[in-house]
Amino acid sequence: MTIAIYPGTFDPITNGHLDIVARAAKLFAKLVIGIYDSPDKQPLFTVAERVELAREAVANLPNVEVESFSGLTVDFAKKVKAKAMVRGLRMSADFEREFDMAMMNKRLFPELELVCLMANVEYQFLSSTLLKEAANLGGDISDLVPEHVAKALRKRVKGKM
Ligand code: ADP
Repeated sequence: MTIAIYPGTFDPITNGHLDIVARAAKLFAKLVIGIYDSPDKQPLFTVAERVELAREAVANLPNVEVESFSGLTVDFAKKVKAKAMVRGLRMSADFEREFDMAMMNKRLFPELELVCLMANVEYQFLSSTLLKEAANLGGDISDLVPEHVAKALRKRVKGKM
């Protein structure tokens, strides 16, 4: 049984992420979404909130789990016994960053294979950062995230104003 992780910040999870999740869930026996609890980023949602939003979004996928982690991604991979790490690649800036991270991760845990899935054309320009900016300015983001995430975003953005 091949286990894979899909690590990221997921602040919050978007339809772009979920497209990668659904496709990766077909390739691996089990997919563990790893929500990174970063010590230096200032996320809009706490790690517990990001885990909750992601869990609700993948409730229909029986072989997908959601967990938070801190520290090295490779240590998280070892903890859940993953042999592969999934990442989504958008056309714009992702490749160089992924390549650098992959080289470092390979040094740290050579057995872990990186599997990059190309972002769906529909979601090429969707990032959590842009999504939050649009929501902040009152834009309609309902096509880009599941309904419960849109609701949480609207509420959080309103609370900040
Ligand atoms: P990170 O902080 O690691 O970039 P993100 O939550 O932004 O975390 O993204 C997690 C993973 O999902 C990354 O591999 C990223 O490239 C990918 N990703 C982000 N947005 C999209 C999208 N719209 N379509 C496909 N993959 C995406």
